Amino acid sequence: MSSRLPEFIDPRRLASQGGGYSGTVKLADLPRLSEALLDTAGNAGFSLEFYRDNRNRARIKGEVRAELVLECQRCLEALVLPVDAVLDLAVIQVPEEADRLPESVDPVWVEEDTLRLLDLVEDELILAIPQVPRHEPDDCGTGSYTPAQEEMVSQGQEDDASDRPNPFAVLAGLKSDK
Ligand SMILES: [Zn+2]
Repeated sequence: MSSRLPEFIDPRRLASQGGGYSGTVKLADLPRLSEALLDTAGNAGFSLEFYRDNRNRARIKGEVRAELVLECQRCLEALVLPVDAVLDLAVIQVPEEADRLPESVDPVWVEEDTLRLLDLVEDELILAIPQVPRHEPDDCGTGSYTPAQEEMVSQGQEDDASDRPNPFAVLAGLKSDK
């Protein structure tokens, strides 16, 4: 395994030679992933191995680990998603080749001879993010939004309402004007 990380690799040649890369990358350096994160601090660790399988296909095996901080879509608080993804990929030249792969193997379409190494890592992390990230119901906090609202309501009830209009009365007035 080499520790020097090239930006681009030739996955077919690497597979023929047999080689791999491992290392870490800052989450903030993965722009497509960062867009989906609430907090881009931290790193992703990865190790990737390239080889030819018994059908002479260029294959990539490895793993990607990170802790992603997402925004819970229910309470809007931080949600930490530990990712420990195992990759099992086959490099294909034309999309039709994907149909001939075993179901457990994912295709990586590389038309030319170059693949951006960190795209493999970034794609895997993006795939690990649920479409609607949410805490487990028991862990889902009420966040700061709801207590603030409750405070507003209770203050309104405690105050002598004579010096300001009841917001609900104003609303009712607007409705009756229609
Ligand atoms: Zn939540």
